[in-house]
Amino acid sequence: MPIPPPPTTYTCPACHWSKTVAPRSDALMPGEFFSACPNCRHAPLDRKTASLAQATLGGLADAFKRLW
Ligand SMILES: [Zn+2]
Repeated sequence: MPIPPPPTTYTCPACHWSKTVAPRSDALMPGEFFSACPNCRHAPLDRKTASLAQATLGGLADAFKRLW
């Protein structure tokens, strides 16, 4: 059974835009990957793996229900 990639938080160092995405599979879909800031076009973005707590706070708890 494939393990979904962990949620990733993208942060723009220029305008402080940020978004946490939780891919549903290994295949990234549009809207689940950012190579540049959609707000100000700055690139590259800071990327870090979100903790479970952050993901839950971000309203992504549904993405984890399948895991437990
Ligand atoms: Zn930006």
